[in-house]
Amino acid sequence: MTKADHISPGSPGLRRLVDPYGRRLHYLRLSVTDRCNQRCLYCMPPSGIAKLNHQEILSLEEQARVARVAHSLGVDKIRLTGGEPLLRRDLPVLLQALGRLSPRPDLRLTTNGRLLAAHLDQICQAGVTAVNVSLDTLRPERFGLITGLDLEEGRRAFAAVWEGIRAALARPGLTVKLNLVLLKGLNHDELVDFARLTLDLPLAVRFIEYMPVGAAKTFAPERFLSADQALAALAGLGALEELPRQAGDGPAQRFRLPGAAGELGVIHALSNHFCVTCNRLRLSAEGRLVPCLFSDRNLDLKPILRGGGDDAALALAMLQAAAMKPRHHQQTQTLATPSGCAMSRLGG
Ligand code: SAM
Ligand code: SF4
Repeated sequence: MTKADHISPGSPGLRRLVDPYGRRLHYLRLSVTDRCNQRCLYCMPPSGIAKLNHQEILSLEEQARVARVAHSLGVDKIRLTGGEPLLRRDLPVLLQALGRLSPRPDLRLTTNGRLLAAHLDQICQAGVTAVNVSLDTLRPERFGLITGLDLEEGRRAFAAVWEGIRAALARPGLTVKLNLVLLKGLNHDELVDFARLTLDLPLAVRFIEYMPVGAAKTFAPERFLSADQALAALAGLGALEELPRQAGDGPAQRFRLPGAAGELGVIHALSNHFCVTCNRLRLSAEGRLVPCLFSDRNLDLKPILRGGGDDAALALAMLQAAAMKPRHHQQTQTLATPSGCAMSRLGG
């Protein structure tokens, strides 16, 4: 198949987002804002990064339109992310628009959890099936250090995140995952505690390798801990049962501790390329379609969205973005120069 085959208009309904390596891109990650109420040290410098002005950020209607056209090209899974998505005013308007797509896509949300409890009704009413909460420590006194808050603010924020997690676990039909970025010297001594959470709670814990991406110009290679090192740290907990891969699993390798209610997963972002299973396209807060997290190449949809372009033009741009997807990224933990768009505009 040539590149042209991927971007030819074809007949409506038959076109699908497929990259030049045959990977079907059916998972759209939509960053709804670049604003955040934290400054996680792996994501942003303490002073934050330059904010987009309001006109630069796509409106909710524009985001819904991109999602609708992507859906017509085979996207069946949409994750709202950010920045902190729950800071976006009127987010339910977007959630409802996504919930009306037919067939309804698998709707998910990634959040730092601070505002989760208050938004759960709206999230569940819109048909969101899974929330990922980013939580890198179980120790309230460490929370501020990792998230750029002072000690007291950190303790309060930690309590709010836990309230959100508990409330989410109480919602029938809502899957809850905790995402932890592995950080040597900051949380490597908590991996067993995180794993033990899965014994009693029906949630998934994901250990994610620290990645040199975007505005994390502060990438500190000495903090890197591989997913395999994380698994080795769990040796004392008993034999991990590896769970079979399921369709749509994404890059995680999944395990269960003996008798556990929940599950564990590791994401080898750098130590072992996960690119072969990549099924993602990302839309940044300012409307750039980003085919690879680690690449600076992207395609700006704003001129089409704001220049009177029709849905066919949007669809063609999406097919072009799919054709730009590299076979795999080039990053390693020894490369201290981050690449790609700022995480807080792109959403991880
Ligand atoms: N604010 C929300 C949150 O924190 O969940 C959503 C946006 S955040 C950019 C999405 C995910 O990216 C989070 O799980 C965060 O841990 C992850 N992330 C950010 N910077 C990262 C880095 N340098 N390496 C690995 N994961 C990172
Ligand atoms: Fe942390 Fe998410 Fe905010 Fe980045 S966007 S600073 S990961 S809470």
